[in-house]
Amino acid sequence: EIRFDGKTILITGAGSGIGAATARELAASGAEVVLSDLTDTAAEGIAAEIRASGGRARAFAADVSRADQVAALVEFASSGPGGLYGLVNNAGISGTPAPTGAHDPEAWQRVIDVNLSGVFYGMRHALPKIAAAGGGAVVNVASILGSVGFANSVGYVSAKHGVVGATKAAALEYATQNIRINAVGPGFIRTPLIEHRLSDDYRRSLEARHPMGRLGAAEEVADLIVYLLSDRAGFITGACYQIDGGYTAQ
Ligand code: NAD
Repeated sequence: EIRFDGKTILITGAGSGIGAATARELAASGAEVVLSDLTDTAAEGIAAEIRASGGRARAFAADVSRADQVAALVEFASSGPGGLYGLVNNAGISGTPAPTGAHDPEAWQRVIDVNLSGVFYGMRHALPKIAAAGGGAVVNVASILGSVGFANSVGYVSAKHGVVGATKAAALEYATQNIRINAVGPGFIRTPLIEHRLSDDYRRSLEARHPMGRLGAAEEVADLIVYLLSDRAGFITGACYQIDGGYTAQ
C-alpha cells in the first residue's frame, strides 16, 4: 500500500478534473494536501470535501502564470512542521483552437504563461523547499501533446513539449539530492477541460483516435501521479509516462 503519512503535497489546478482526483487519492493515502486553483471557491470546495471524509486538506488561491502568486502559494504550502514533500504541477488550459497561420498571439501567450511558465514557477519556488525538507518528488502534468503534434493547437502543443523538456532539465539537477521529477502524458481524459467542446461526433472521433476506443478517466491519471510521487517509483526520474490508451503507440 502506498502511504504519504506526515507528508505535505501541493497540487495546482486542484479544483477540477485530474487535480481534484489526485488530491482526493493523495489525501486518502495519508498525505496532507494543499489544493490550489484560480479561485478560493474552486479549491476550497474539494478541500472541504476531503476534510469531511477525514482527510487533511488546506486551500489557497493562486494564478500559476504569476510568479509572485506561486511564491506565496509555495510559502503557504511549506509552512507546516514537515515542510514540503511534493508538488503536482497540474493547472492548465486548453487554449483556443485555430491553425498556426491564424492563431491569436494573445491566446498563444496565455497558454504558454499558464501551461509552461506555470510549471517553471512551481518548480522554481518549490524545489528549494523540498530540498530543505530532505527530498521528495515533483510530477508535471504534460500531455500526449508533449510528445506528438495536434492540429489547431500550436500554443498547447508547444507548451506541453516544453513541460517535458523542463522536467528532464530539472530532474538532472536534483538527481543526487533525493528529489525525483517526472511528467505524465495523458491522452484525452473526460474532464471539464475537454467536455465543454465534446459534441457526440467530436467525442466519437476522439475515442476512435485511442486504440482502446475510449477516453481516459481522471482517476486513472491520478493513480499514475500518486505512484510517481511515492517511494515505489524510487528509481524513476526525468521520465514522461504516457497514459493514453495506446494513442502514442500508433
Ligand atoms: P480541468 O479544466 O478540469 O482542470 C484544470 C484546473 O486548472 C481548473 O480547475 C482551472 O481553474 C485550473 N486553472 C486554469 N488556469 C489556471 C491558472 N492560471 N492558475 C491556477 N489554476 C488554473 O482540466 P484537466 O483536464 O483536469 O487538466 C489538468 C491538466 O491535465 C492540465 O495541465 C491539462 O493540460 C492536462 N491534460 C488534460 C487532458 C484532458 O484530456 N483532459 C489531456 C492531457 C493533459
